[in-house]
Amino acid sequence: MTHILHRNIRPTMPTAASSKGIRITDTNGKEYIDASGGAAVSCLGHAHPDVTKALHEQLDQLAYAHTSFFTTSVAEELADTLIKDAPDGISHVYFLSGGSEAIETALKIARQYFVEIGQPQRRYVIARDQSYHGNTLGALATGGHAGRRKMFAPMLFETHHIAPCYEYRHRQAGESLEAYGERAANLLEAKIQELGAENVIAFVAETVGGATVGAIAPAPGYFKRIREICDRHGILLILDEVMCGMGRTGTLHACEQDGIAPDIMTIAKGLGGGYQPIGATLMQQKIFDAFDKGGNFLHGHTYVGHPMACAAGLAVQKVIKRDKLLDNVKQMGGLLHRRLSERFGNHPHVGDIRGRGLFQAIELVADRSSKTPFDAKRNLHARVKAAAMARGLMCYPSGGTADGKNGDHVLLAPPFIVDAVAIDAIVERLGDAVDAAVAEVS
Ligand code: PMP
Repeated sequence: MTHILHRNIRPTMPTAASSKGIRITDTNGKEYIDASGGAAVSCLGHAHPDVTKALHEQLDQLAYAHTSFFTTSVAEELADTLIKDAPDGISHVYFLSGGSEAIETALKIARQYFVEIGQPQRRYVIARDQSYHGNTLGALATGGHAGRRKMFAPMLFETHHIAPCYEYRHRQAGESLEAYGERAANLLEAKIQELGAENVIAFVAETVGGATVGAIAPAPGYFKRIREICDRHGILLILDEVMCGMGRTGTLHACEQDGIAPDIMTIAKGLGGGYQPIGATLMQQKIFDAFDKGGNFLHGHTYVGHPMACAAGLAVQKVIKRDKLLDNVKQMGGLLHRRLSERFGNHPHVGDIRGRGLFQAIELVADRSSKTPFDAKRNLHARVKAAAMARGLMCYPSGGTADGKNGDHVLLAPPFIVDAVAIDAIVERLGDAVDAAVAEVS
């Protein structure tokens, strides 16, 4: 009997007992390969000795000091590290406890920025359909996933959404990738014109779509055009790299591969690798300057800049750098994509195989030629998850939308330390799990 309100009211999940490297073991001694890093979190794998040591040391030295009284050397060092490696012009960081808080903070920074520079009428946020930015009310209002919003819709502030850059479903026959990317970005221009540029605060997007769509990378040139549109209208570009950032796609920040820098960026999961809850909102110098000249940022949480969380983030990032793990992300990401293509390239129910680095996904369809998704009510994604867990594999499936705008997909985001032997085991188990789950609904 559990006294926890789990996501599923009657949870049948195993009890995790211990973990090491890329594996978690349950209380029955069964091992699971963590091929999703939980929810794209455990970038360094589990029980890394360097992180454990850093956390012990921090706990002995200073566990907590509220940021209205003190700064700490561990928070300052992590901020220095993040800013040194941040996209062009990013100069300051605000620490938080996770991704949703980071998005809420980004929205509030954007709003207050415009008030500070004398444009208080700006109030609208534009984001994308099918996106996910977190589960708190502001983050949920920003996200464009109809199913997740529905229950809370009357409580969500007004936001506006455009279609995502989703080549598999939206590129037209004969259209080049570049032309499609430009067409998808131009939807933002049209939306801004509809709302009046002078009323818009920001455009928010995941650089590579994650939880609700499954590793959808933008078409070449998409974000360059988005950047140009935002600049022309004086609108801030907020990139949500909570899931796709911190090395997951092979570069520290996913947007490096798109050749742009955002005004505000959110990071979380891979920042602390799951060793502590931590997120952060990064901002451009011009935004910091507006606050510096104007009022204090009207925000704050009890655990901002928590020393234990910062110690975890610092230790994780040091190991990633020292061990050159982003090279492995690129190499193993390429291998994972190839193995997925070999296993599922001709699969009658896999419509798309996509991703960047160790952030890969397959999209499941009832019919490949028409790209028709499985009936969302059949919960194929939950069946894949159960079949994978039965085979000792953690993957991250998510449901298609009831409106049929996308199908069920399975996201893979293994730790950066994964090797070729494990990649083969992951793809083999996933293949068996997908076949078993599809057989249940066919
Ligand atoms: N943004 C994105 C892109 C995410 O993937 C997530 C979590 N899946 C969040 C925000 C919310 O993060 P958290 O669950 O830490 O609040």
